[in-house]
Formats: sequence, structure tokens, C-alpha cells
Amino acid sequence: MADDLEGGCACGAVRYRLASAPMFVHCCHCLDCQRQTGSAFVINGLIETDRIEVLEGAPEPVGVPTDSGRPHDVYRCPKCQTAMWSDYGGRPFLRFVRIGTLDDPSALSPDVHIYTRSKVPWVGLPADVPTFEVFYEREALWPPESEERLRKAAAG
Ligand SMILES: [Zn+2]
Ligand SMILES: [Zn+2]
Repeated sequence: MADDLEGGCACGAVRYRLASAPMFVHCCHCLDCQRQTGSAFVINGLIETDRIEVLEGAPEPVGVPTDSGRPHDVYRCPKCQTAMWSDYGGRPFLRFVRIGTLDDPSALSPDVHIYTRSKVPWVGLPADVPTFEVFYEREALWPPESEERLRKAAAG
């Protein structure tokens, strides 16, 4: 586990540090994530909002449409528009940090691969990481300490 989880946008106006590793890391292969990143998947670290320490700048939320109709705000650098984290579903206590914006994107690797039904065929997945055609049961995969962190964050 990396000790120094710092990251930022492309222009340097926004810098942040994660106070700890995320609770869990999703690699999402859904079509929304492919479209919104222009890539094959997104890597999202699920972390308590108060464990994201913004060191410089002020990321701004930009709403994007969702199939479910639930809100999805992407927080972007106001200057260069790099997306750094999301609020999925209007949960103020929880953020999905884009692991690719860390200074060392290889510091964290996915705990699960989801929505693999729309995975691009040329991406191969490791045999030792759980994969799901759609979503998964959190209780079955999350370590107990991460469950406890989520419970505390949701309770405020
Ligand atoms: Zn920027
Ligand atoms: Zn997705």
C-alpha cells in the first residue's frame, strides 16, 4: 500500500492527497465510463469525502446524465477540466476518485472488475481479481474494515 497518495489535474491548478487508501477500488467497464473517459474503462477508488484533502485549487462539479436518473457529478479542474473524482448518486460522504489522476497511478490496483459484459475484447483481466458481468454484492467482497468505514461515513 502506498504511503503517499497524491495527485492532481493536468495543468497543476488542482492538487490533492488521499488521507488513506480507498475502501475499495472498482475497475468499471460500462459504456458510460468508456464514453466519459474516452477509454476502455475507468478505475475508481471509493473513499470517504473527508479523506480527500484538496491541497491546491477548487474542483468544480459538472453534472452528467445517467441511465438510472440518479445524479452523477464529476469534479473537474476549473482550468484544464481534468476529471478527478465523482459523486455518484448524490452521496455527499462518498467519492469515487479516478486513480489515473494519482501521481503514481500504479499505487492502487482494482479489487473488482465490473460491467465486464461491455468490456472491450482486447483487454484481458487477471485471473485473481473477481469479475462481474454487471454489479456485485458489496457485503461479499469488501473487507470488514472497509464496511465499517463506509458505515461510519454514511452515519456522518
Ligand atoms: Zn488543471
Ligand atoms: Zn462504469
